[in-house]
Amino acid sequence: MKQEKVLYQDFLQSKNLKLTKPRLIIMEAVLENHDHFNVDDLYEQIKMKHKDVSRATIYRTIPLLIESGLVKQSLRCESKDIYEHTYGHENHLHFICTNCGKILESSFNEVEKLINQLAKNENFKISEYNLGASGLCKDCKK
Ligand SMILES: [Zn+2]
Ligand SMILES: [Zn+2]
Ligand SMILES: [Zn+2]
Repeated sequence: MKQEKVLYQDFLQSKNLKLTKPRLIIMEAVLENHDHFNVDDLYEQIKMKHKDVSRATIYRTIPLLIESGLVKQSLRCESKDIYEHTYGHENHLHFICTNCGKILESSFNEVEKLINQLAKNENFKISEYNLGASGLCKDCKK
């Protein structure tokens, strides 16, 4: 986690922002959470230890975390944005169940090759992949 903290601090500094206590708390919570989360999930997680971080602060801080490269928005579900931290996780695609909200991750390798080839044909430089599909998981399909 040290490395990410340095990264985040450098990023904030480049924007003339300080690593305030709420920013640090939110960063640490995000890095502890290896799952997909929305702002409400994150708020519940933080509230257990830190009662003084408001939901509004989390909303304001997420864009900073995204811009710093620590977090990405992975998908939208029921009009909520869902995020995950990127560090230590490979590119993957998401299958989201519209019935129970379960999110499955699937390996990306074969598709990535294909997309890279398509991008090359268009002379397009990819900076981020964003792939997914929604439907019913195996439990809800029954
Ligand atoms: Zn992780
Ligand atoms: Zn389901
Ligand atoms: Zn994911």
